[in-house]
Amino acid sequence: MPRTVMSEAIVVFNAGSTSLKFAAYELAAAGALNLLRVGRIDSMQGDPHFIVKDAAGKPLAAHEWGEGHAIDHRTALHFVITWLEANLADTKVVAAGHRVVLGGARFEVPVLIDDDVMNYLDSLVEMEPSHQPFNVRGARAFADAFPGLPQVACFDTSFHRTMPAVAQSYALPKDVRDAGVMHWGYHGISYDYISRQVPKFAPAARRVIAAHLGGGASLCAMLDGRSIETTMGFGAVSGLPMATRSGDVPSDALFYLLRRKLFDDVSLEKMLYERAGLLGLSGISGDMRVLSESADPRAAAAIEYFVYAIKKYVGAYVAVLGGLDALVFTAGIGENSAEARAALCDNLAWLGVKLDKPANAAGGPRISASDSGVSVWVIPTNEELMIAQHTLALIRR
Ligand code: ADP
Repeated sequence: MPRTVMSEAIVVFNAGSTSLKFAAYELAAAGALNLLRVGRIDSMQGDPHFIVKDAAGKPLAAHEWGEGHAIDHRTALHFVITWLEANLADTKVVAAGHRVVLGGARFEVPVLIDDDVMNYLDSLVEMEPSHQPFNVRGARAFADAFPGLPQVACFDTSFHRTMPAVAQSYALPKDVRDAGVMHWGYHGISYDYISRQVPKFAPAARRVIAAHLGGGASLCAMLDGRSIETTMGFGAVSGLPMATRSGDVPSDALFYLLRRKLFDDVSLEKMLYERAGLLGLSGISGDMRVLSESADPRAAAAIEYFVYAIKKYVGAYVAVLGGLDALVFTAGIGENSAEARAALCDNLAWLGVKLDKPANAAGGPRISASDSGVSVWVIPTNEELMIAQHTLALIRR
């Protein structure tokens, strides 16, 4: 009897409050990772639906639990792994990699998750309540459902631990800083990936600003591929305005709202995360596509604010970097909105940025003119692949 050749796969999870995104990679020869399947379960709290696609983006299967049903992370994870193993012939899942936003002071690099690590990550949920609890829940669910299978946590904060001490600190008393209040920065898995791509496109670029503009948005100033500044701060709500997150708001305004009892701490945080940003400014939508297509002046004003906020930070980061060699756009808006890219680049003419309009309309990769003082790029991010690569490296060690 011929022996069945089993191939091995790593599954990457990004567990959110109501969704579970996943991607499965085959462990190929020479450490290569081939994307097998990508998918998600959405609306887990009331109308869960599963969709899975192949590597080319072709939908392969869907499943609905029905309206009024709720599933937890464990059920969702179990469903995904069972589906993958049943539908990928002769493929065995050998490890999981999880996106975890906050690694805290302890984790500057990805780590194999054991009980001690899990408990530490759980202890950070009060610092970052919008993603961390669900990321940890995903890892716990996997450990419960598949005990013995290795799993790795990759942190959005890790990439920014190379920031100089002055950039990681706030002007607060020592006891407050000792309680963990510091400039963590986020989107680091995406910036880690981008920092490895930049040399392939712009090998001479040392001073780079990467703009991760998606539902969440931030900038990262990189010197020689390492983060030296980033716009998100202690939590993922500060810095640039985002789809529904406010970005920077002065703390004195928040005290005022609390003092007037218009909000309590919970409703204030919810407002800043869910009702602010592009949605709050426009009163229409947090989705850049909807705003771009709208004739409503409030939509145009929201986009103007978004571009203005980015311009202000680019100016600051050019000072921090001592100049600028390359600007990189990535994530949903950065990769797809030629209009937002053009609006920003027009605002950066003072820096010597000159857009190549047809290249921008075509989506790059290079969208700056050959005589531009700063090269400008569109580089699609791939956080899932980054997590899979880190996971593979750790399980092989
Ligand atoms: P997330 O941060 O949730 O992972 P993405 O990186 O996928 O999000 O980005 C989602 C955002 O990208 C959407 O809110 C939408 O505004 C924007 N986007 C996607 N495609 C386009 C497009 N063609 N034009 C403008 N904006 C787009």
